[in-house]
Amino acid sequence: MTNILVTGGAGYIGSHACKTLAAAGYTPITYDNLSTGWQEAVKFGPFEQGDLTDRTRLDQIFAAYQPVAVMHFAALSQVGESMSNPGLYWHNNVAGSLCLMQAAVAAGCLDLVFSSTCATYGNQDNVVLDESCAQHPINAYGASKRAIEDILRDFEAAHGLRHVIFRYFNVAGADPAAEIGEFHQPETHLIPLILDAIEGKRDALTIFGTDYDTPDGTCIRDYVHVCDLVDAHLLGLKWLEESKGSRAFNLGTGTGFSVREVIDQSATVSNRTVPVIEGPRRAGDCTRLVSGSTRATKELGWQPKRSTLRQMIGDALRWHQTGHYDK
Ligand code: UDP
Repeated sequence: MTNILVTGGAGYIGSHACKTLAAAGYTPITYDNLSTGWQEAVKFGPFEQGDLTDRTRLDQIFAAYQPVAVMHFAALSQVGESMSNPGLYWHNNVAGSLCLMQAAVAAGCLDLVFSSTCATYGNQDNVVLDESCAQHPINAYGASKRAIEDILRDFEAAHGLRHVIFRYFNVAGADPAAEIGEFHQPETHLIPLILDAIEGKRDALTIFGTDYDTPDGTCIRDYVHVCDLVDAHLLGLKWLEESKGSRAFNLGTGTGFSVREVIDQSATVSNRTVPVIEGPRRAGDCTRLVSGSTRATKELGWQPKRSTLRQMIGDALRWHQTGHYDK
């Protein structure tokens, strides 16, 4: 069996990647400190608890499993938290990724797939966000991811660390079998919060800002189904196996939806009303983030299959109603 080291494999996206890797015949080795992930989500391969900044532990893991590649998901990813506590993001995301890269190079594991973000682009209204756009993040989360991209480029030049960078737009949905799904504590993401409001688990969904320069005044995002997203990671792995060189790819569908549109579609899919409160803007939020690129489709052959808003909300709702992690 071919081992792939999956950092953050106990998290939302990482656990879906593990399921897809296992189905494709790989053995995903989850390395996760469980700060935001769930051991219950590790169902598709071995689990090793550890921190990205623990070089000794990382060296042990590389020696024990001899992975052929790393999929690096482990990160803190909340825009609001990154603004109030940026040090946490520079320590965990940047220093942690640096430690991981150093361990990978020392172990001779030179293929790495990295989870980056459209937040690295920042506010570029009316600009098509393709991969060649300048990256000017406006929050510490985006800045931490851009810094890791820079380190990757330096490590490729100096140490031959080949990498595929995926800049995610907004990831949504869940495993259609509802075996795994999105579960954060506390939850900060739009769709699970809407589902909580629908089910009375919170009083209402607060819309963060209704005075943006968009048709309905709320922020616009490009939502992509988590299963489509992890399919791209398999294609990225194949790209590296074929030694095609390091490359960055946006992962979005090219279609943007406003916060109000997501709320309306959630009401339609669930056939329930969504209690809503209009609140102030959240610090660090960009007005509009929509992928303007088809590079992943053209070069990797990526074809999103489940990324309609209806499908993403439907899959998220099924998971929300039937599954959650509690230990
Ligand atoms: N949002 C909102 N209310 C919430 C959570 C999010 O209005 O309780 C908005 C947020 O301002 C952004 C969009 O929903 O415009 C998506 O936010 P999320 O946190 O899900 O993802 P992000 O775009 O920050 O990665």
